[in-house]
Amino acid sequence: MKKPRVTLEPDLAAVRAVYAELEQRPAERSCVGRSDCCRFRLTGETPYVTLPEALLAWKAWRGTGRRELRLPEDGACPMLDPTSGRCLVYTSRPFACRTHFCKAAGGPRDRAAVRDLIQRLETLDRAAGGEGCGQRMEVALRAASEWGTGRGRRR
Ligand code: SF4
Repeated sequence: MKKPRVTLEPDLAAVRAVYAELEQRPAERSCVGRSDCCRFRLTGETPYVTLPEALLAWKAWRGTGRRELRLPEDGACPMLDPTSGRCLVYTSRPFACRTHFCKAAGGPRDRAAVRDLIQRLETLDRAAGGEGCGQRMEVALRAASEWGTGRGRRR
């Protein structure tokens, strides 16, 4: 897989605006924070995340005082607190975490109902130097981490 690289300052306010708009759209589902869907090995599925979203989540994670991003050996999301079992970046969690497959939350949202929001995120991804599509959570977070710490920026 080609390694994604963020080359420009991602528009994080625009990402937040997409999330806010999603919250305004009624849906017969509700996340109850069980975090099963954060354990990718358990579910056999990994959320795909655009680079600007990954950077927003990574910045929120850094805001908790953590510094070195590590992939947990149990295959869980790096944003999941292994002690509490809670998402450390819940209010900044990616779109996929808000809409994807979690049965406890009511299953996936109707893609047609949120397609315009997905397209906005894809446009933001391209504007940041990505390929306009999401990457596996851990790949996108790694790229965001490298960008955020200055290791992934084009000079
Ligand atoms: S970002 Fe948060 S909600 Fe999304 S998979 Fe990771 S721990 Fe779970």
